[in-house]
Amino acid sequence: MATLTQDDVLSVLKRIAAPDGRGNVVSAGLVSDIAIKGGTVMFALTTTPQHVRTMEILRGAVEKAVLGIPGVEKAMVALTAERPPQQGKAPPPAQPGQAAPRGSGIPGIKHLVAVASGKGGVGKSTTAVNLALALQSLGLRVAVLDADVYGPSIPKLFGLTGKPEPSSAEGKKMKPMTRYGVEVMSIGFLVPEDTAMIWRGPMVMSALTQLLRDTEWGPADVMVIDMPPGTGDVQLTLAQQTPLSGAVIVSTPQDLALIDARKGLNMFKKVNVPVIGIVENMSYFVCTACGERHEIFGHGGAREEAARIGAPFLGEIPLDKEVRLRSDSGEPIVATLPDSLHAALYRDVARQVWASLEGGALARPAPRIVLESE
Ligand code: ADP
Repeated sequence: MATLTQDDVLSVLKRIAAPDGRGNVVSAGLVSDIAIKGGTVMFALTTTPQHVRTMEILRGAVEKAVLGIPGVEKAMVALTAERPPQQGKAPPPAQPGQAAPRGSGIPGIKHLVAVASGKGGVGKSTTAVNLALALQSLGLRVAVLDADVYGPSIPKLFGLTGKPEPSSAEGKKMKPMTRYGVEVMSIGFLVPEDTAMIWRGPMVMSALTQLLRDTEWGPADVMVIDMPPGTGDVQLTLAQQTPLSGAVIVSTPQDLALIDARKGLNMFKKVNVPVIGIVENMSYFVCTACGERHEIFGHGGAREEAARIGAPFLGEIPLDKEVRLRSDSGEPIVATLPDSLHAALYRDVARQVWASLEGGALARPAPRIVLESE
């Protein structure tokens, strides 16, 4: 069989009308770059929060049409809130001295952004790493601090081993480790992997303060902080004592996780840290055998909940074996498979996070592009 090409997919998509009734989904600019891997076709359709319902119906129709192309075994079409990125167009780099809603208080670092979750296992660390790499791919300087002292997984996710070196300039500081162009620091570099650590609240705070302040960070536009899971006292103290510009909350669509996510929102509200938005992880699963989309944990819960409580919804990341395999082998998908749908979805989240940080619009959703004539 002839190899499947982007043109095969585009020619089918060009036969599908855009919601405005003028032109097709391709000419209307609603289709992102198309990724093809074997018989799997992946891309995103642009929508706005107001048009999600219409676009969800269109998404189904588009997926079906793509599945009808000979050679296509699996079609993954996601809705995304922003226009596809224009090649090579990075957001303007942060200007030194430019007013920020909240400074990081750490020399050279403009914004600290916490990635938090109401409970463990929802993909918080995976999201933190891929968000950091996605921010970097937008042309920003990025650092990652692993604050999950109970189960530091950032070294593994970045494929980093060894110990940080002492800084040559200032004896008592450490140099961060660097991978994929991102500076990384974790307690995991400093203690053996199999050491059981019992942390009392004050110890966590002092360990983290040390990691944050005693590391010789290079200049960064954003430092992503992977928070410990949950919303207990330790997390609250951390949110309060770290000069955060904002927080991203990761949730699965499960009800229980959503209840926990709400706790997360309340925690940040309590300490006046703006919630940048919610990311729904493991949103749905596309079966490799039957090509069908399975909404294992239910679907859309986080989006509805976000709307209800007035927190921006930053996007949904499907459950995907490739994400897990690459995370577990220290080759995060955004860095190692930048043309994948997942990488595009993480970049979409990253753009919204950056717009939120720099637009000074933390209390409001990130600006969205409106389809004019729907
Ligand atoms: P947390 O930090 O919330 O405990 P992790 O980021 O460590 O969660 O993720 C838990 C497990 O789920 C890991 O094995 C990770 O590879 C996997 N995982 C996370 N997100 C996804 C996803 N979207 N698709 C598939 N596996 C995922």
